[in-house]
Amino acid sequence: GDNASSKKVYKVGVDTTYPPFEYKDGNEYKGIDIDLINAIAENQDFKIELNAMDFGGIIPAMQANQLDVAIAGMSITDDRKKVVDFSTPYFEAGLTVVVKKDNSNIKSVDDLKGKNVAVKKGTTGAKFAQETASKLGINVVQFNDSPAMFQEVSNGNADALIEDYPVISYAIAQKDPGLKIVGDRLNGDQYGIAVLKGQNKDLLGKINKGLAELKKDGTYDKIVNSYLGE
Ligand code: GLN
Repeated sequence: GDNASSKKVYKVGVDTTYPPFEYKDGNEYKGIDIDLINAIAENQDFKIELNAMDFGGIIPAMQANQLDVAIAGMSITDDRKKVVDFSTPYFEAGLTVVVKKDNSNIKSVDDLKGKNVAVKKGTTGAKFAQETASKLGINVVQFNDSPAMFQEVSNGNADALIEDYPVISYAIAQKDPGLKIVGDRLNGDQYGIAVLKGQNKDLLGKINKGLAELKKDGTYDKIVNSYLGE
């Protein structure tokens, strides 16, 4: 619409803290996901209200109609497709094993046998760890957010953690949490923006259209490069 006050406001769920995709700088939200959803909203003439919450609470909040959209470094998975519709992919990620910097005995997933492995609730990393647990026998310890999970390994309470590659490499580059990545990326996956399944066709159409325009006009690259460099 022409009038700002008549624009539809959508409630957008983001992870509490997941740099470089979302984080708070003072009172201001920043990150690739934040800039992207703001740019899409501007391009498609709607408004958003950000709601930061534990990642594991985001899909349940959508199902309870407390959120219209989620952009939270959320990987597109078949499990999730049963309850949400995803936009076209907007970022390549994938999981990796992370240990304390001075750890020299964990070099691959197989070395996790019998170890304590920290994960974040509701994530693809948690699912990977649970599947590995039933094959190998590992002890999976769950956390609500990434900083708590990182700390568990840096303080030696857990032997390893599973995190998205772009997130842990950004953390290591930015503030050296005393952690290191081991082995190859465990999978390839892609982030998508989610809306509740079958109930938000219009909104999903706008998100996909906005995303396509931002990719075409260079805004998408500009946003990503502003956090990750060229
Ligand atoms: N990409 C992972 C997932 O979708 C982790 C997301 C997150 O921790 N915000 O489960």
